[in-house]
Amino acid sequence: MKVLIIGSGVAGTCLAHRFLAKGIDFKIIDKGINQSTKVAGGIINPLVFRRMTLSWRAEEFMPVADAFYQELGKKFNTTFQYPLAIRRLFASEQEAGYWLKKQALPHYCDFMALQTEADVNFPIPQNTFGTGLVKGASHVDAASYYATQRNWFLEQVLLESEELDYANIDPVNATYKREVYDYIIFAEGKDGKANPWFGHLPLQQTKGEVLTIHAPSISQEESLNRKCFLLPIGNGLFKAGSNYEWDTDNVIPTETARALIEENIASVTNAPYEVVDHVAGVRPTVLDRRPLMGKHAEFPKLVIANGLGAKGYMMAPLLMQELTDYLAEGKPLHPESDIARFNK
Ligand SMILES: Cc1cc2nc3c(=O)[nH]c(=O)nc-3n(C[C@H](O)[C@H](O)[C@H](O)COP(=O)(O)OP(=O)(O)OC[C@H]3O[C@@H](n4cnc5c(N)ncnc54)[C@H](O)[C@@H]3O)c2cc1C
Repeated sequence: MKVLIIGSGVAGTCLAHRFLAKGIDFKIIDKGINQSTKVAGGIINPLVFRRMTLSWRAEEFMPVADAFYQELGKKFNTTFQYPLAIRRLFASEQEAGYWLKKQALPHYCDFMALQTEADVNFPIPQNTFGTGLVKGASHVDAASYYATQRNWFLEQVLLESEELDYANIDPVNATYKREVYDYIIFAEGKDGKANPWFGHLPLQQTKGEVLTIHAPSISQEESLNRKCFLLPIGNGLFKAGSNYEWDTDNVIPTETARALIEENIASVTNAPYEVVDHVAGVRPTVLDRRPLMGKHAEFPKLVIANGLGAKGYMMAPLLMQELTDYLAEGKPLHPESDIARFNK
């Protein structure tokens, strides 16, 4: 099997590693402008705090993601993934109640620590409804992951830095510049909205911005979370974010977003800080919040691997394993990821 992958974000590179493991022949092309994988927080969090529910398929995604990033770290003689103690400052009585109700339930107890007196009385002025500690969360160093993967695939001559011109693809025979492939897989992130074969799918471009702040008096031991995350990244630095701006495809950092994130930082700390960096990116989100995976109905040699939304780092390792098994062994995709759901 010979495959062309378009895109070297977390989707394309996870897929490429799955192909390497299976001995599948592939080439990646990527235009070298990444606006999501590179700037992400990289947080792998199994919970959705609003209703205190488990994130979709979290129990399946989490162990596969841990194994993937840990093994990749060993292979590259570095660390990509770090354990992360996320402390949620409850936003309401109701949220605190959800935590108490769910913390000991099967499934939830793997990801929610039983609340202690110390959690209830966590000593900061912003603590009004108590706090809870998430278990099993982590974060991937997004910039390092992206740069290391891109450079390595370039060195292996498995990645070419170029922009795909759709006009060079024959969708029936899956040829690109006269080279014949069994499949051409589009892992284009937010740029997939312009794809001539998959552009009809409900992919959205959702801008988000992230500040890096220097706040040496805040503990680096935990990631405080309410309205925003404060992700400790060492040397007194934290990433802080993020916001959601729908249907926006530009990566220009704005004063409005900065003001909003700074307002949200005040909901977790009063500590002084200095903003040292401010970046923006665009998430490839989907209306029904599920990934976009599978073959084109009319041109089955064209395949999509997109729609990873706000949780690409958590989902990509398992989703790309599933896509590999689907293409190589004919195993079915998860029905909620499969783009066949839009054929009805
Ligand atoms: C501000 C922000 C914060 C985030 N925080 C988190 C987080 O904490 N945790 C988490 O799990 N996720 C987070 N995400 C989401 C995560 O970043 C995405 O889910 C993920 O990066 C999507 O990866 P991707 O490979 O699908 O797309 P991308 O990373 O966008 O990669 C697509 C690649 O395809 C290439 N490409 C596209 N079209 C072409 C073409 N025609 N020719 C050649 N190359 C092409 C692009 O150059 C790009 O490199 C965040 C995202 C943002 C923006």
